[in-house]
Amino acid sequence: MANAARTRPLFGCIEAGGTKFVLGVARGPRAILRTARIPTTTPAETLDAALSYFETAREELGRFDAFGIASFGPVDLDPHSPGYGSITNTPKPGWSDTNLAGVFAHNFDCPVGFDTDVNGAILAESLWGAAAGAGVAIYVTIGTGIGGGAVVDGRPIHGWRHPEMGHALLRRHSDDLDFAGICPFHGDCLEGLASGPAIQARWGASLSELTLDHPAHDIIAYYLAQLVVAQQALLSPEKIVLGGGVMATLGLIERVRSEAQRLGAGYFGKQDYAVLVVSPGLGEQAGLFGALALAQLRLEKK
Ligand code: ZN
Repeated sequence: MANAARTRPLFGCIEAGGTKFVLGVARGPRAILRTARIPTTTPAETLDAALSYFETAREELGRFDAFGIASFGPVDLDPHSPGYGSITNTPKPGWSDTNLAGVFAHNFDCPVGFDTDVNGAILAESLWGAAAGAGVAIYVTIGTGIGGGAVVDGRPIHGWRHPEMGHALLRRHSDDLDFAGICPFHGDCLEGLASGPAIQARWGASLSELTLDHPAHDIIAYYLAQLVVAQQALLSPEKIVLGGGVMATLGLIERVRSEAQRLGAGYFGKQDYAVLVVSPGLGEQAGLFGALALAQLRLEKK
């Protein structure tokens, strides 16, 4: 056993969020040994704290084989770009053009898997969670913002930049025509209509604070269901994982499923919406599992 433990790769895992960084050290798949969280303040302060955490771990456990970083976005994922591994034009003060991947690659002399937090989340869910076994799987988080990631045959989708999903445009609910939406770019895109702040802006409360017979529940479900049906038409996913604070609302996922079934109008054949639309399976440590999955994928590609 001792030998086997030593031969399993050591991974540094970072879930880089707008309010906190969650750090972890793992020995092999799913085996997170220790975790810590530090507040996201300035890049210099936060990265110094993260580096010192991993330096201590290296002294105790040996050298790292790879790092995985699942970051808030937008991020630069183009390996040929000088900005590769950076957060790009974020509204978070001080963090635009902050390089994350290069810092850890340089200080720990190992490969770094770098991606959006939602691409990390769906990679982990497709390996170990609610989307296990799916060839095409999508993760959407509905919270302060709405963001989505997708995996096709074990690889996160990047393309021109990376999937966003929150800024998808959609059809308005007939009882929700007076609200302009809160997206600074589009007004009434999905994020502008169905994110936590958009719900707060028109009803003065979070969705879970509104009684279950409040029309907000059906209105929000209608928008999320449109994303589900659009994804069926665009990518033919086997799993769509819906997470984030808004999705913790009692009964919301059931409303999304039945609304999607209605909007899909039978076109997608026997696809069962209870199987297609699911909650995350990795719980509290989902973000960190995302980073671990990215580290593992990067090491496999080496
Ligand atoms: Zn938008």
